[in-house]
Amino acid sequence: MIPISKPIIGKEEKEAVLTVLDSGIIAAGKKVKEFEAEFAKFTGVKHAIAVSNGTCSLHTALFMNNIGKGNRVITTPFTFIATGNSVLHTGAEPVFADINEEDFNISPEAIEKELKKDIFRKIKAIMVVHLFGQACDMDKINALAKKYGLIVIEDAAQAHGAKYKDKKAGNLGDAGSFSMYATKNMTTAEGGMVTTNSDKADEIARSFINHGSEKIYFHTRIGYNYRTTDIEAAIGLEQLKKLDSFNAKRRENAEKLKTMLKAYDWIKTPGENKDNFHIYHQFTIKVKNGKRDELLKSLNDSGVGAKIFYPLSLHQQPFYKETLKRKYSLPVSEKTATEVISLPVGPSLTDADFKTIEEAFIKFAKTV
Ligand SMILES: *Cc1c(COP(=O)(O)O)cnc(C)c1O
Repeated sequence: MIPISKPIIGKEEKEAVLTVLDSGIIAAGKKVKEFEAEFAKFTGVKHAIAVSNGTCSLHTALFMNNIGKGNRVITTPFTFIATGNSVLHTGAEPVFADINEEDFNISPEAIEKELKKDIFRKIKAIMVVHLFGQACDMDKINALAKKYGLIVIEDAAQAHGAKYKDKKAGNLGDAGSFSMYATKNMTTAEGGMVTTNSDKADEIARSFINHGSEKIYFHTRIGYNYRTTDIEAAIGLEQLKKLDSFNAKRRENAEKLKTMLKAYDWIKTPGENKDNFHIYHQFTIKVKNGKRDELLKSLNDSGVGAKIFYPLSLHQQPFYKETLKRKYSLPVSEKTATEVISLPVGPSLTDADFKTIEEAFIKFAKTV
């Protein structure tokens, strides 16, 4: 089966890990510092804080911006559960605004509709998700944040190296959050990174991820152990060097898939908005003939590891239905969840893989 994603680990990563293991310092040490500095430089931000994963990274990004109990955070329903859960972890409540049909990202118009309804001014932040590797419409979103006095947090877990105009994801709001999980565009197995240009937020974050200590054994706020290790940082430093070439290969693969799928008028391939540099964390098509589930099964049977991201929107998740008092109707997100399939697009795809994918579609097309 052609996997939907596959980490690419070379001899550089392996050697870097062995060097750390032999050094005697395996928890957070100088490699973590180096990884943070390089990631900050890459993203174009003043500070990057390495953490254990992309979920605690979101939690930290919210906490360092003073989001907590009694607050509400507008976000997208069409995302991985961690986006919504991190808001719940702070004690705040997620408020969902519907997405755009074209690019799967949160709709600025839907955000403003929610803001107009917020007469008690409980909404304190917008958490955008640059879904599948394409940044949100940040000019419009930042303008709304300014108008209503809100913090903007970017869930950039799928957007390492993605650009909006001349800036990179993670440098488009008040804080950014990345995941380094095994399936992401770069990986440290598990891992995360918080980004910000604020010195104060950086200081709070560093304390928050280390039990709320300002100096060792003096604790001034609530905190967690969200630290990472020099082992992961050593992998991350090598992955970061390769990230641009990984992303270039993904873009090339995406173009090949688009050309291949032009033949089918019941498939809508993903587009790239004019202000964007899309890094195709996923290549997600919409199946417009009502046969999404049949296509998925057929592709899987033909050895193509296609997958659905995401079968349910967050407001449709059993836990959220139980927890949130508000009942939502978010038609675009709900419909999208019934139409999408993501195809393998990662840098390791071979010519033989493309052939397998092409033949799988030809075979299925004969049945529709
Ligand atoms: C992967 C992901 C996360 C969570 O990251 P983890 O490292 O798995 O905790 C959060 N948001 C989005 C959109 C993701 O894709």
